[in-house]
Amino acid sequence: MKDVPNILWLEEIRKEDIVSVGGKGASLGEMASIGLPVPPAFVVTAQAFRRFLVETGLDQKIFKVSENIDVENNAALEKAADTIKGLVTKAKMPVAIKDDIKASYKKMAQKDLIVAVRSSATAEDLPDASFAGQQETYLNIRGEAALLSAVQDCWASLYGARAIYYRAKQGFEEHTVNIAVVVQQLVHSEKAGVMFTSHPISGEPLTIIEGSWGLGEAVVSGSVSPDHYVFDQRTESVGETTIANKKVEIIPDGSHGTKLVPVDPARQDAQVLSDGEIAKLAMYGKIAENHYGVPQDVEWGIVAGTIYILQSRPITTIGKKEAKGMSGQSKDAKILLKGQGAAPGIATGKVVIIRDVKDTGAVKEGDILVTRMTNPDMVPAMRKVAAIVTDEGGMTCHAAIVSRELGTPAVVGTKTGTQQLKNGQVITVDGELGLVYEGAVGGAAQAKAGAAAPVAVVGSAPIITATSVKVNVSIPEAAARAAATGADGVGLLRIEHLILGLNKTPGWYISNHKEEDFVKELYEGIKIVLDAFPGKTVWVRTLDAPTDEFRNMAGGENEPIEHNPMLGWRGIRRDLQSPDQFRLQVEAFKRLWKAGYEHLGVMFPMVSHSDQFIKAKEMMRGWGVDVDNVTLGIMIEIPASAIMIEDFLKVGIKFASFGTNDLIQYTIAIDRNNENVADMYNPQHPAVLTLIHNAIQQCRAYGVECSICGQAGSDPKMAIWLVEHGITSISANIDAIAKIREAVAKTEKRIILEAARNRDAE
Ligand code: PEP
Ligand code: MG
Repeated sequence: MKDVPNILWLEEIRKEDIVSVGGKGASLGEMASIGLPVPPAFVVTAQAFRRFLVETGLDQKIFKVSENIDVENNAALEKAADTIKGLVTKAKMPVAIKDDIKASYKKMAQKDLIVAVRSSATAEDLPDASFAGQQETYLNIRGEAALLSAVQDCWASLYGARAIYYRAKQGFEEHTVNIAVVVQQLVHSEKAGVMFTSHPISGEPLTIIEGSWGLGEAVVSGSVSPDHYVFDQRTESVGETTIANKKVEIIPDGSHGTKLVPVDPARQDAQVLSDGEIAKLAMYGKIAENHYGVPQDVEWGIVAGTIYILQSRPITTIGKKEAKGMSGQSKDAKILLKGQGAAPGIATGKVVIIRDVKDTGAVKEGDILVTRMTNPDMVPAMRKVAAIVTDEGGMTCHAAIVSRELGTPAVVGTKTGTQQLKNGQVITVDGELGLVYEGAVGGAAQAKAGAAAPVAVVGSAPIITATSVKVNVSIPEAAARAAATGADGVGLLRIEHLILGLNKTPGWYISNHKEEDFVKELYEGIKIVLDAFPGKTVWVRTLDAPTDEFRNMAGGENEPIEHNPMLGWRGIRRDLQSPDQFRLQVEAFKRLWKAGYEHLGVMFPMVSHSDQFIKAKEMMRGWGVDVDNVTLGIMIEIPASAIMIEDFLKVGIKFASFGTNDLIQYTIAIDRNNENVADMYNPQHPAVLTLIHNAIQQCRAYGVECSICGQAGSDPKMAIWLVEHGITSISANIDAIAKIREAVAKTEKRIILEAARNRDAE
């Protein structure tokens, strides 16, 4: 590492310093360097952290502990993480680093200044990798002693169990990972809000500013209807101004946290920003937009007449059609295949064509798996590869679902991938655009096996939404990544993947008298997910795999051969006819409830009549479940259940969730896995929307939670429509959570704003 000092001031930092100051530090430095009024700050560099490790001898000790961690063993991982964190917090900080921090703090202000201390992880080989959800932040820190211990606590947070797991899964070498700590004056804004430097939908040169009293959190979270100002950059004047009735504000609460309080009547209808402040903010917005080259979403605050710019990031909603990942460099590259981008990310590697699951032994780390369609028995191979390409399938096929959770780029439905590509050929896969290129293109990193796509933007502010934003999980190893998104719970846990990964059908366990193994597998797998979401609801779905997915497994030979497995023996109808299989699942749930996992809810798939719900409940009662005091709900994925939803509500379902993957195929008769009709698979078909709209209204009338867990819930456009139509929660893929949360928050704010305006107009 370069000889970088222990401390860097914002003014000295540029984005190239990301290795020393982390993503957060680099972005603040960049903003300061272009003259934006960023609150004063300095960064305790990654090199300072390294020196601390070396001088205290901790690097060796940590290496010893971390070298042997089995990250899949939760208890061992937690224990190792606690040990390392203890070592870091208890070690004596070298005097030179201590003195540098103290001197910098003094330089910021004579009196003890209140600061925020935020950690920003960084890696030597991939400095701008996202370590979202692992950033420790300490607000309201005052005084040298408190500051020094907060810095050390930030350092220790590098070794949280979730952080270690995440890095292991991303393939980071532990010793190359560092942490920088940003120490910044805490701005207790008297007024604050957000600004779009161009119109967020049309891209017109109109600066949109929303502001309210107190901290910006009130505006960002949608707890208040803010004032709304439009500054026209062409005429350099304030156009539209809407003064809202601002009933509440968020203010600091003592030395810790914040609280929501009523705004005194005199300020409720007062205009928050003067024309001068609006013009000045718009000017700062323009500076940021010009510098970054794209319109920005800016957070600002004002204290005693001084404007501070707190954060600036690209607006994600302006119609963007251009290639994301490789854009420029890929223009000249030869496109070999087109399909659907099913799991985002770009990777280059050697083709390995798998025609039969028996051949998966040939798959090596970093290869690109090319196959007709993946099956659950291919999951171990899917874990190793850099990317996946299939001939068949659409956005909701097995390959798509599993790849998204593994964080492995995937292109599905290429039709001719297995014929056109050759073993050993080097290709580049763009899982966002659904393209396969010849050779290594655009410097796409040779993706490491299991490299997980970043789950959120480093340093983005938490967005709070009234509509719950939950996450879908199918494989327990994705639980930590799913939890790192900060999702409000799990809206769908598909348990068939817990079982099918072992290559044996449920029937095999039963006929080989291995029922207890089956129950244990389910229990352990579900528990991993429940543990990752303490206190948040986790809806576990009972088994639902079409018979063809069982075919290659032990016991698969006894599965009936069905002409159309999608319409066949699956979901709750199979369980109701196979009490042995249903009972074992219920046994696992019972044990989990008994062990105190009250946040577990059970969801029945493929129901088409309320009698099925009643029957399932009665069977569970017969096996000793206190059915009236546990959470039981249904999936709405057959038009019959959407049309007859009131019958289900009358018999006491506690929740309903749209399984749009199936609901769409059954409503418009388009096979979800058939690439020949993939372009007609339309989640927004009016018939589908009508079914969804009606069912939402019925659920609302009965006060029952109504959600979505099909792939359509991961599309921001659909999420906006669903929020407008009153859905109470949305469950999306891990990679989609950030954008869904943003779409939901904006829609909620817009609805509140429109309601307030309509009230004012009355
Ligand atoms: C659905 O049908 O939308 C769903 C979530 O279930 P699956 O994709 O497992 O059929
Ligand atoms: Mg389904």
